[in-house]
Amino acid sequence: MTKFDGKTCLITGAASGLGRATAFAAAAKGASLVLTDITADTLATTAEELRAAGATVHLAHPADVSDHSAVVGLAAHTFDAVGHVDIVMNVAGIATWGTVDKLTHQQWRRTIDINLMGPIHVIEEFLPPMIAARRGGHLVNVSSAAGLFGLPWHAPYSATKFGLRGVSEVLRFDLRRHKIGVSLVLPGAMATPMVDSVDIAGVDRDNAALRKAIGLFLRHAVTPEQAADAVIRGVERNRYWVYTSRDIHLAHWGQR
Ligand code: NAD
Repeated sequence: MTKFDGKTCLITGAASGLGRATAFAAAAKGASLVLTDITADTLATTAEELRAAGATVHLAHPADVSDHSAVVGLAAHTFDAVGHVDIVMNVAGIATWGTVDKLTHQQWRRTIDINLMGPIHVIEEFLPPMIAARRGGHLVNVSSAAGLFGLPWHAPYSATKFGLRGVSEVLRFDLRRHKIGVSLVLPGAMATPMVDSVDIAGVDRDNAALRKAIGLFLRHAVTPEQAADAVIRGVERNRYWVYTSRDIHLAHWGQR
């Protein structure tokens, strides 16, 4: 019996990248799945692919995590359909880059609403029932290397990833007495669609310097499957710090 076998696992951002890869990895370990994402069509396709691979997908429910009422609806559907959740994974996120003279208020707001308020909405709606169910469990919050140290252009993104780290560091202690473990996932570069959809204030996407920067970033990237493997191992071993690449691990400990 692993930490996943026979357990129900909720994954946000499940239609793409790390969320999608983690859904396949958790299913391979015996978990049944509740999947959510803002993009309904890719979410439905991912759920079909998982079912075709033999996974149990209880629900593939589209929701915008930045919308509290949508997350309330997701929780209601989930507890109606499945009765309980054992593992909650906050993976959904967007990337916003830019310099302070170019970033708009809307870009700051949207990044905070999705990357920080999104996981908070999920925690608000899923953790109290998990505590009440007294089944223990695990919470995974996906932060970033940008939640550990400053990276150029990353101010809005870092604000959310440092914020999520703050929430996790507190819940790590608060949830211990309920036998709910917490993992903070710290990806470095991952080759996912996020890299191409990054919202960059005031920078032309065809800008040569930008393409070079993204090229350099991707040269150090791990695949979403490699990162998902680290997430699964983190839950199995009840690790708080989960590094998805060696560079981040070394950079983090080098800063201490
Ligand atoms: P991705 O773009 O492939 O996947 C993110 C998913 O989140 C998408 O399916 C998207 O539709 C979904 N999403 C976006 N906004 C949403 C919303 N409002 N509500 C619900 N779902 C929403 O990106 P990824 O690289 O797999 O990112 C996964 C996580 O990893 C994110 O939290 C990201 O910040 C983090 N991360 C990524 C990298 C990287 O290099 N790709 C590095 C560090 C951290």
